[in-house]
Amino acid sequence: AEGVETRGFEAEVARLLHLMVHSVYSEKEIFLRELISNASDACDRLRYAALTEPALTADDPGFRVELAIDKDGRRLTIADNGIGMSHDELVANLGTIARSGTSAFVEQLSGDESKDVNLIGRFGVGFYSVFMVASSVEVVSRKAGSPEAWSWTSDGAGTYAMRHAVREGRGTTITLTLRTGEDEFLDAWRLKKIVKTYSDHIALPVILKGEGEEGADETLNAASALWTRPKAEITPEQYGEFYRHVGHAMDEPWATVHWKAEGTIEYTGLLFIPTNRPFDLFDPKRESRLKLYVRRVFITDNCEALLPGYLRFVRGVVDSADLPLNISREMLQESALTAKIRAGLIKKILSELDKRAADAEAYKAFWDAFGAVLKEGLYEDFERREQVLKLARFRTTKSGEGVISLADYVARMRPNQTAIHFITGDAAGVGHSPQLEAFKARDIEVLLLTDPIDDFWTGVGLDFDGKPFQSVTRGDIDLSLIPEAAGGTQAEAAPDADIATLIAAAKLALGEQVKDVRVSKRLTDSPVCLVADSGDMDMHLARLLRAHKG
Ligand code: ADP
Ligand code: MG
Repeated sequence: AEGVETRGFEAEVARLLHLMVHSVYSEKEIFLRELISNASDACDRLRYAALTEPALTADDPGFRVELAIDKDGRRLTIADNGIGMSHDELVANLGTIARSGTSAFVEQLSGDESKDVNLIGRFGVGFYSVFMVASSVEVVSRKAGSPEAWSWTSDGAGTYAMRHAVREGRGTTITLTLRTGEDEFLDAWRLKKIVKTYSDHIALPVILKGEGEEGADETLNAASALWTRPKAEITPEQYGEFYRHVGHAMDEPWATVHWKAEGTIEYTGLLFIPTNRPFDLFDPKRESRLKLYVRRVFITDNCEALLPGYLRFVRGVVDSADLPLNISREMLQESALTAKIRAGLIKKILSELDKRAADAEAYKAFWDAFGAVLKEGLYEDFERREQVLKLARFRTTKSGEGVISLADYVARMRPNQTAIHFITGDAAGVGHSPQLEAFKARDIEVLLLTDPIDDFWTGVGLDFDGKPFQSVTRGDIDLSLIPEAAGGTQAEAAPDADIATLIAAAKLALGEQVKDVRVSKRLTDSPVCLVADSGDMDMHLARLLRAHKG
């Protein structure tokens, strides 16, 4: 037809939609949470834009989301007066895999539908989840400040259509035509329940149109920013839903920290530590994703200065009373206030971890998920190294499947042992290295370090409790003062002359490939092992760097 532009979805979107359309996922109601969450984000973004361009909201200053039911037409409508989308934004946001979370989801798809369906719960799929319940969807959007509206329609099967539309005022209206069997989403009572469960924390009113007494409109949620409410009035479920909203997450928070800082600077923090690793944890950008508000106005979720890279797994909001509303994102990075807030957040997070470390089992779950990231702090946060070291946990030659702290390690040190011994390598091989033989023979515990970051922080000259870290693969380690454990076998030493001949032969055979060949006391069973000189690079690190060069 005239004026209709039909476009194909990007291949990944088509795959995703196929899964949605055929989904047997049990919690289909989450589509409503996703739409309300998007509406709330859109209002946040417009509120921010209006700080510098007040005309954008002058005609309609009250932000809201409106739900409307059309039982006869089997339609459910979700409308917001947020920032809206232009033609090109509709195409980019609803026709491609715009956000990295969705692409991580698609990467995980196996093609086995029963398995893939469970991924919906693990990743969340945002807007596209509407196709779990709708046979067709229309999005009409008008960008704030623009006279032009556009309609996007699709039945989720490969293509969508774009046409000019009319919309009174800015914002986005999404109309779902529900599939047979999905009538529950036409039921006012059911919608109220869903909004209360998933979207109560949304800071703007979610209004159900015309379903109240005598056809009145009804606000379904508390409609105040969750972090501004008193802690005692917030349930764990509400915290959980809020976490999933701000963190774009699907798991439960492992820790929730909600506090108000008063004094020289004033702000409210509501921070979460996730249970599971977010998909972008090892993204090279290492960006933090905290949302910054200034007196309840959303400013940015991209302020690196708020958290150091080694705490980038933390999610949540910070609402400052002191920063100026018109602060630019660039100024924020430089601001002394930001630096103070940052110090406050780090302190709060580290002390929460310290508290939670008392429960060894729960803490191990945290450590397994985020320890590799937290350890980056040993390398880059000079000021707080000791604190982070105290929070670190390690697998060792004696820990089995568990992990221990350095305090545990030091308490178990052998008589005359002066250093904390470690070996770096890959998880599969490191515990079987011949380098460990002399240590095992003397019953000396050795830390088994298997994260790439371990090669870096162990090189910065840290100590714990006055004990330096010492690699078992470097230099000549004198263990002679530490007695062999009972049952150790000491082979009878060969005559010196024979050893000298052997060493000369080995040097001749290996030539330039080695720096030196020496007699060693570190082996008990293996005849030979490779070590790095004390001044040289650790062997595992050298191997890593070589692998990088390719
Ligand atoms: P996410 O919200 O995680 O970015 P979604 O799939 O939920 O992912 O949405 C994709 C994008 O579409 C959003 O980032 C946003 O740019 C845009 N979008 C979705 N809904 C709206 C809306 N109601 N108003 C404005 N933009 C929207
Ligand atoms: Mg979303």
